[in-house]
Amino acid sequence: MKQIIDFTVVSNKTLNHEHFVLELKPDKPLPEISAGQFVEVRVDGSENTMLRRPISVHDVDYDKNILSLFIKKVGEGTRHLSELTEGDNLNLILPLGNGFTIPDSSNVLLVGGGCGVAPMLYLARKIAEKGLRPFILLGGKTKTDISGIAAYQAFGKVAITTEDGSEGEKGFVSDHPWMKQETPDFKLLYACGPEPMMKAVNDFGKKHEIDTEVSLEHTMACGFGACLTCVVDTTKGHQLTCKDGPVFNTKELKW
Ligand SMILES: Cc1cc2nc3c(=O)[nH]c(=O)nc-3n(C[C@H](O)[C@H](O)[C@H](O)COP(=O)(O)OP(=O)(O)OC[C@H]3O[C@@H](n4cnc5c(N)ncnc54)[C@H](O)[C@@H]3O)c2cc1C
Repeated sequence: MKQIIDFTVVSNKTLNHEHFVLELKPDKPLPEISAGQFVEVRVDGSENTMLRRPISVHDVDYDKNILSLFIKKVGEGTRHLSELTEGDNLNLILPLGNGFTIPDSSNVLLVGGGCGVAPMLYLARKIAEKGLRPFILLGGKTKTDISGIAAYQAFGKVAITTEDGSEGEKGFVSDHPWMKQETPDFKLLYACGPEPMMKAVNDFGKKHEIDTEVSLEHTMACGFGACLTCVVDTTKGHQLTCKDGPVFNTKELKW
């Protein structure tokens, strides 16, 4: 059940010129959170950020009672968040939305690009908790877009693509050999990132009849189904990214 919880900033790690990770400790035990769910962050101290900002759960450490958010600076809200320091307070509504399917096989591929890598770490952790080791493909424009690889390597087999070839394979995630296989053995594909990237993963899944789940990052206001700003057209009719998603099986999406 969703809750409104006050958190204290434990750390704010700058990863590169546009990405940072906030580690947050709540004033009570964290609720149960599924991989793929998100939080709505209240951004205090700015006139233009009246609405909360949706951010995926990047990781949860229940032993330390710490929640992590991986954030890209794009506008005023996220810039404010990037300026938080240890001891600052942050108010979140969580957990929101649905989650990814947790598989029964290691033969699954997680694909994250840009800030779409955010939900993939917690998904990898959840899969690893079942004794499985997923394949994880992280894509960026250049090597500075890719960071924190060791965290993913703890949970799965990691590969990198960069558009300029400065790290890993040169090209898009869809150029990586894992996605070029003629007879891939993946049981499920997961993707979060720019729409062309998710569509490329979907095309690969469609070609080889592999179910594909994507996490959509549509602009939204409330985050829990009240404002109806995040409607998505599906085979089941109009659905809400915030409540019925953000994770959808691509078979349901009318892309
Ligand atoms: C379910 C969900 C999960 C998300 N998870 C993450 C995450 O883990 N990490 C992360 O960095 N971001 C995530 N986002 C995107 C994030 O919510 C927006 O980047 C943020 O709200 C922008 O706030 P702002 O005040 O900084 O920018 P604004 O001033 O609100 O916007 C700045 C610019 O960014 C554009 N923008 C705003 N929201 C989005 C969006 N959702 N998609 C594309 N463009 C947008 C605006 O149109 C504008 O051009 C998620 C979004 C959703 C819906």
